Amino acid sequence: MNVPEIFASDVFNCSVMQARLPKDTYKSLINTINFGHPLDMNVANVVANAMKDWAVEKGATHFTHWFQPMTGITAEKHDSFISPTKDGKVIMEFSGKELVMGEPDASSFPSGGVRATFEARGYTAWDPTSFAFVKDGTLYIPTAFFSYSGEVLDKKTPLLKSMEALNREALRILRLFGNTTAQRVIAQVGAEQEYFLVDRAVYEQRKDLIFTGRTLFGAKPPKGQELEDHYFCPIKPRVSAFMKELDEELWRYGILAKTKHNEVAPAQHELAPIFTSINVASDQNQLMMEIMKEVASRHDLVCLLHEKPFEGINGSGKHNNWSMGTDTGLNLLDPGKTPAENGQFMLFLTAVIKAVNDHQDLLRLSVASAGNDHRLGANEAPPAIVSVFVGEELEAILAALEREETYKGSGRKVMKLGVDSLPVIPKDTTDRNRTSPFAFTGNKFEFRMVGSSFSLAGPNITINAIVADTLRQFADELEKAPDFTAALHALVVRTIRENKRIIFNGNNYSPEWTEEAAKRGLCNLKNAAEALPHFADEKNIALFERMKVFTAREVVTRTEIMLENYSKVLSIEGLTMLEMARRDIFPAVSGYIRTLAKTAGAVKDTFGAACPAEEKTAKELLLLNDKIAAKADELEERLSSAAAIDETGAQALFFAEKVLPVMQELRSAADRAESLTDERAWPFPTYGRLLFSVN
Ligand code: ADP
Ligand code: MG
Repeated sequence: MNVPEIFASDVFNCSVMQARLPKDTYKSLINTINFGHPLDMNVANVVANAMKDWAVEKGATHFTHWFQPMTGITAEKHDSFISPTKDGKVIMEFSGKELVMGEPDASSFPSGGVRATFEARGYTAWDPTSFAFVKDGTLYIPTAFFSYSGEVLDKKTPLLKSMEALNREALRILRLFGNTTAQRVIAQVGAEQEYFLVDRAVYEQRKDLIFTGRTLFGAKPPKGQELEDHYFCPIKPRVSAFMKELDEELWRYGILAKTKHNEVAPAQHELAPIFTSINVASDQNQLMMEIMKEVASRHDLVCLLHEKPFEGINGSGKHNNWSMGTDTGLNLLDPGKTPAENGQFMLFLTAVIKAVNDHQDLLRLSVASAGNDHRLGANEAPPAIVSVFVGEELEAILAALEREETYKGSGRKVMKLGVDSLPVIPKDTTDRNRTSPFAFTGNKFEFRMVGSSFSLAGPNITINAIVADTLRQFADELEKAPDFTAALHALVVRTIRENKRIIFNGNNYSPEWTEEAAKRGLCNLKNAAEALPHFADEKNIALFERMKVFTAREVVTRTEIMLENYSKVLSIEGLTMLEMARRDIFPAVSGYIRTLAKTAGAVKDTFGAACPAEEKTAKELLLLNDKIAAKADELEERLSSAAAIDETGAQALFFAEKVLPVMQELRSAADRAESLTDERAWPFPTYGRLLFSVN
C-alpha cells in the first residue's frame, strides 16, 4: 500500500483545488478559508463545478450538506446531480448556490423550543474551512445549520465562533509581545478515541446493547482487567485486520490516524490521530466514529462507543489534547527558550489556569451526559471535580513566582518574567499523572473528562470561550500599562495567587482529594442532572454573549436539549431493563427453578433421598425472582412518574435520584440470579462471552 498516494485521495483539499481551479478563483477561496472573506457567487459557481467534476470522476452521483444537529451525530440528505435536458436525457449539474446554501426540513431535529415544528425552515451553509469529500458515491459538504430566524441549531457554528473569539483575543496578546507576523491564532486538538469491539453474533443477542449501547445487566466475569494484561498487549488477528482497514479508510479521507493500541479493559482499544485545527478535528472525529462502526460491521464486529458499556471494567473516553498555535507555526503553550518567549508562555499558561478555575462548572458540564456519569469518578477516569495538573517543576516555578522568590530548580533561577529565563521544563515529568482531568503535558493541555461518544464541539467551545474571555481581560489590562514588562510580571503573579486552588498534582482518584477539593471550595457537580442546568447560569450566559459564541436564548435552549436528552436516555434504559427483566430474565429464572424442583422431586421419588443443593439454589432463586418482579414493578412506577414531570430540570433530577437507584437494585438481583443459573438457560450471552469473544 502506498500511503502517501492514498492519503486524502477522497478529499477536495487545497492541492486538488489548486490543480483544478483557475488561479484567481483558487486565491479568493483560500482567502475565504484562511481569513473568512466572503465568497462571491461567481467564485462559488466555479468551485461548485470543479467540485462536481472531481466528485463524479470519483464515482459520485449525489451531494449532501453534511451537518451536526444537536442529536450528537451527523445528519445528511442526499440530492443527485442530475438535471434534465430537452432531449429527455440528463446532465450532471451543481451550482454555486447549491454548494453555498441548503434548506433541509428542520422540523424533526432537537431545537429546545427555538422553532415550532410548523416553521420548519432550516438552512445549511457551506463551511469552506473543512474540506468536502466523497464517500459511498456522495459528495459530502461540511455545513453549519441554523434556523430561519438565524438561531443556531448545530454544534459547528458555535465552535467556529469560539475559535474566532480565541483568535481575536490571543492576537491582541501576541501584538503586545511585539509579534506582528502572526495573522491568526488557531485552536487545535488531537483526540485520543477509545472504543470496544465485540462479536456481532454475541451483540445481537443483547437487547441492552442494541437499544442503549451499554449492558444493563451482566454478572461479573471470572476474569476482568485485574491482570492488566490487555493494555498495549499484542493485537489479535481479527482486531488487527479491523484496525488495518480502518487506518486505510481514514487515510483516504485525509484523517491523520497515527497511533493504535489495546487499552486497559478486555476488548477495549484506542486510536489517536495527529492534532489539527479544532473545526477539522471535530468533523473528522465524527466521520471517524461513523467509519469505525462501518468497518467493524464488515468484520462481523460491533464497535461500541458508549462511555460505559460494561460495569466493573473501565469505560471509554476521548482525551482532548488542546493547544493554541499561530498560522506561522508557533505553539503558544510551548515554554520556549528566551526570556521573552518564557514570559509569553507564562501568560498563556496562567490564562488557561485562571479560565479553568473561573469556569469549573462549564468545563464539568461540557462533558455531562447519562453515559459519562458512569465513568467520571469511577476510579478509571477523573472525578467530576475539575482541577489542573502542571507537574512538579512548573508548580515549583509558579510557587516561586507567587512568593516573588528566586527559583533554584535545575540550577536556574526566575526572578522577573520577560527578563529572566525559565529553567527547561522536561516534558516527561509533566506527563506522569494520568488521573488529572486537565493536565498540562509539555506544550498542550489534555482534558481527560470527555466521553468517548461525545462530539468534540461542546468541550472545545467551552475551552475556547473561557480562555478567550480570560485573554480579553489580560489584554485589557496590559494594553493600558505604561511599563509592559512590569505589568506582565505583576499580572502573572497575581493570577497565580488568585487561582492556585485549582492546581493539584496528586492522585485525583483518591477519596482524600474529594475532601481536599471541598476544602478548597472547588465545584463538585456529581451527575449530569445536577451539572447541566448551570449552563444557563447568569455568569455563563454573560460569558457566551461577550465572546459572541451563543445568544442567551441559544444557551437556554441548549440546556433544555441536553436535559431532555439525559431524561430520554434514562427512560429508554429503564424501559429496556423492564423488558429484559420481565420477558427474558424472570421466565429464565423461573424455568430453572422448575428444573431444579423437578430434579429434586424425581430424586425423592426414585431414591427417597433429599437434594439439598438443588433446594438451596432454588430457594435463593425464588427469593431473587421475587425481588426482580418487585423491582420491575417499582421501576415501571418510577418511569411513569418521571414521564409525568413537565419541567426538564426536575425531570432529569428525578431520573438521577429516583429512577437510577431502582435500576441498580433490579440489576443486582438479576446479576446474582445469573451467577446461580445454568448458563445454557440464561437468555443472553454473559460478560465473559462478550468480552472475550473476539480473537
Ligand atoms: P501521549 O498523550 O500518549 O503521550 P502525545 O502527547 O504524543 O501522546 O499525543 C496524544 C495526542 O495529542 C495526539 O493526538 C497528538 O497529535 C496530540 N497532540 C500533540 N501535540 C499537540 C498539540 N500541540 N496540540 C494539540 N494536540 C497535540
Ligand atoms: Mg495523551
